[in-house]
Amino acid sequence: MAKKQFKTESKRILDMMINSVYTNKEIFLRELISNASDAIDKLSYRSLTDDSVTLTREDYKIIIAADKDNRTITVSDNGIGMTAKELEENLGVIAKSGSLAFKKEHGEAEESPDIIGQFGVGFYSAFMISSKVTVLSKAYGEDTANIWTSSGVDGYTIEPAEKDQAGTVITLYVKEDEEGEEYSRFLDENYLSSLVKKYSDYIRWPVIIGGNTINSMVPIWQRSKSEVSDEDCAAYYKETFYDDKDPAGIIRINAEGTVSFKALIFIPRSIPFDYYSASFTPGLRLYSNGVMIMEKCSDLLPDYFRFARGVVDSPDLSLNISREILQQDRQLKIIASNIEKRIKSELKKIMDKSRDIYEEFYKNFGLQLKYGIIADFGAKKDFLKDLLMYYSEKQQKMVSIDEYIEKMPQCQKYIYFAPGENVKMSLGMPQTEPVREAGFDILSMTDSVDEFVTGILEEYGDKKFKSVNDDDLGLDTEENKEEKEKIQEENKDLLDFVKDSLDGRAAAVKISNKLKSYPSCLSTQGPITLEMEKYFASLPTQGEKITAERVLELNPDHDIFTVLKDAFENDKEKAADIAKLLYSQAEIMAGCLPEDPSAFALLMSKYIK
Ligand code: ADP
Repeated sequence: MAKKQFKTESKRILDMMINSVYTNKEIFLRELISNASDAIDKLSYRSLTDDSVTLTREDYKIIIAADKDNRTITVSDNGIGMTAKELEENLGVIAKSGSLAFKKEHGEAEESPDIIGQFGVGFYSAFMISSKVTVLSKAYGEDTANIWTSSGVDGYTIEPAEKDQAGTVITLYVKEDEEGEEYSRFLDENYLSSLVKKYSDYIRWPVIIGGNTINSMVPIWQRSKSEVSDEDCAAYYKETFYDDKDPAGIIRINAEGTVSFKALIFIPRSIPFDYYSASFTPGLRLYSNGVMIMEKCSDLLPDYFRFARGVVDSPDLSLNISREILQQDRQLKIIASNIEKRIKSELKKIMDKSRDIYEEFYKNFGLQLKYGIIADFGAKKDFLKDLLMYYSEKQQKMVSIDEYIEKMPQCQKYIYFAPGENVKMSLGMPQTEPVREAGFDILSMTDSVDEFVTGILEEYGDKKFKSVNDDDLGLDTEENKEEKEKIQEENKDLLDFVKDSLDGRAAAVKISNKLKSYPSCLSTQGPITLEMEKYFASLPTQGEKITAERVLELNPDHDIFTVLKDAFENDKEKAADIAKLLYSQAEIMAGCLPEDPSAFALLMSKYIK
């Protein structure tokens, strides 16, 4: 039979495995056992609806054997098995194909062990210790079996074979020992048993070596807190969800009442590479009476907590329900609402007690919480708002809004914030000066959704949010305001001229009441701000462009204003140039590129000369 080639991506992963510098080669066993266990899960789930499955719970097992003379290890299961087509599809192509794309994007070293840790390359890890691998498999309900054979990158074959029972037998032909790597150790059944104990103890089906069941089979979430330490849970998390970092939080739930269930939920601190993309599927693993019903049940998590990973096990769920019905399931709703509350309180606990860890979490998932606040017209804003953090200018670190308010002087009425691309740009805006001068702290808001968040929240406690771009910063006395209005009136012709010189780019030009050391700044009028404009521009939808109405504010106390005024009276061309320069400067300080950067540069050169 002709050899088939692996798909390019698989080939590269395979290559990585074969020439692996990854020291933790022993994980191959955990990967194969986990696949075997999944295959048994699938058959046992099928037995609920298919009477032709005659196996009972007690019949399922995973058998591991080593043969020192032939240098082979076999991992056998009597699970669902694979057809020839499935062998082709599952083993010819790597399942988690995102891993390579990620590696390329991030320019990771070819053999980066993190990739293996984070994605779990599954079956292919067998090639770390094997020179050849065969997979003999018979799918449940099929008459024929097939054998898949491969010695590595040069391809694989699939041929008809003999096998009585449905299931899979994987045979590893263990590599010869080389310097610095004693592969023969894997041929020792005692050593293999210790690996099962170490990595696969909680696997729910018996793993048998030399006639003995090695694993305790009690899943980790079914065990009591006294039996299982946080370290054990963290280790389970890292293995199961392919994360190389400890979770930020561990939540154990043992609920009894209207619905009883056990859950072990993790709040991650590192972010999956595809988290904010459509390819990420959120959800918790759902078990009922020891049978896995769903790998990722997304109905158990609200969208804003979709980063949570973990397992839920409840004997109260009706088992033979389809996914559609599951969505309506009342028990499921009760479980979900309980989990939601627990995640919230765990997050608050981490925020209060382990700030460093919370900050790490927040850097990755803060955006998700913000989306949660603005979703459904702010339906959950009060539930989520105390989880927010922003960079405080005065305290020079991330603070919660409560912490900002605590430090407010009595006379301060508003929660001031500066929106912008980054901390430096936002706090560097000219319009922050009067707030700073008044002695008030400013929060830097650097996510494009932040102004939607403050817009939906409106206030926190009894303090209203106020952008430094706001027309009225609430700092002026009545006298001040009148004075500014007077100057505005006096300079009406000049301001109109400036507006006309800008060819419609500014919706209004006015005398500013916030500028101190800068001659101009850009603000907006109407409901759309500059940051919102940027946000809309970043969306993939192609519709009418949503733009902010720009307002050019001029500082009447600045020398440049006098120069402008003078030019307006004596040299209109120069006045128009100054207007354009002031506008472009203001654009740059607001984090916008001038409409025509080259024209701006030319104009500037003209005056430098
Ligand atoms: P993953 O398990 O992460 O999906 P793998 O590369 O380990 O990736 O396996 C690819 C697929 O091959 C699995 O999703 C499964 O469908 C199939 N498979 C692997 N091992 C077995 C097995 N022992 N029995 C049945 N199917 C298996």
